[in-house]
Amino acid sequence: MRVISIFTNDTAISRETKRQLVSKLENSGFHTEDFFSEHSELIICVGGDGAFLKAIHKCNFPATPFIGINTGHLGFFQEISPDELDIFIENYKQGKYRLQPLSTVKATVTADGKTIEHVGLNEIVIKSSGSRSIHLNISIGGSFIERFSGDGILVATPAGSTAYNYSLGGSIVDPRLNLLQVTPIAPINTTAYRSFTSSILLPSDLSFGVIPECGREYSFILVTDGIEYRYEKMEWIDINFAKPVINLLRFESYDFWNKVKTKFLDDRVEIL
Ligand code: NAP
Ligand code: MN
Repeated sequence: MRVISIFTNDTAISRETKRQLVSKLENSGFHTEDFFSEHSELIICVGGDGAFLKAIHKCNFPATPFIGINTGHLGFFQEISPDELDIFIENYKQGKYRLQPLSTVKATVTADGKTIEHVGLNEIVIKSSGSRSIHLNISIGGSFIERFSGDGILVATPAGSTAYNYSLGGSIVDPRLNLLQVTPIAPINTTAYRSFTSSILLPSDLSFGVIPECGREYSFILVTDGIEYRYEKMEWIDINFAKPVINLLRFESYDFWNKVKTKFLDDRVEIL
């Protein structure tokens, strides 16, 4: 039996799209479930990017391919629209697709006497738990580089480069590149504090280390893909490439830079 898992957010259009999808898939010989198990050959997320990210976290970053149906707002991850269900099922049955691998980022946090790992598909953000600035000693590949002060630090994957990273003035990265982008959030640059004001790009084998400045009581917030975790007494955080790779189903018409153009510029932009 071929099993497909379907996740959805709670909007009326998503629920209706899911209902149609379930009936079309069942008529095509698939069995659908609304949870993930190792029997699933595909995971479908109905909603926007937020729903897509939530489903990935809920399934714990599996190797099983994902596809998104966009009923949300931006839908950068989402490949198909609700009026393309029949053609999607036909192409899927005929194997007319390829897989786009997306790398992930991992933060290993030592705080409150424990070590905990968090994985993100878009990014990991470290910021203070209140409205005051955060003071961090930053190391790259084990060497001390800078003393950062400001609102926080964001480490984006190529897939996450078009999200919060882009709003902060970071660069859009083609997901075929293996790198992490570190983007400062409102860095303070005065005679008292000094750090990079632009994003920096790191190769996949370098580790990015964060240690709170000596003598400060450190409580902070770590945000991965919009999900918040609060810690007291942070000791250090290491941020690296993570092992899981998310595989997205992509059809013939998909092209990364075309998608960027339609979502960020205007789909009527023509060559003059
Ligand atoms: P949200 O606050 O609804 O997301 C903000 C916007 O980011 C939404 O329009 C969302 O698309 C879009 N988005 C998410 N991932 C994207 C990607 N990889 N490329 C381009 N756009 C993307 O929260 P959410 O829907 O739960 O998504 C979580 C993400 O929001 C976080 O990972 C973070 O990157 C982003 N965020 C952005 C800002 C900012 O830009 N100032 C602030 C906080 C968080 P949909 O409309 O399809 O959901
Ligand atoms: Mn959203």
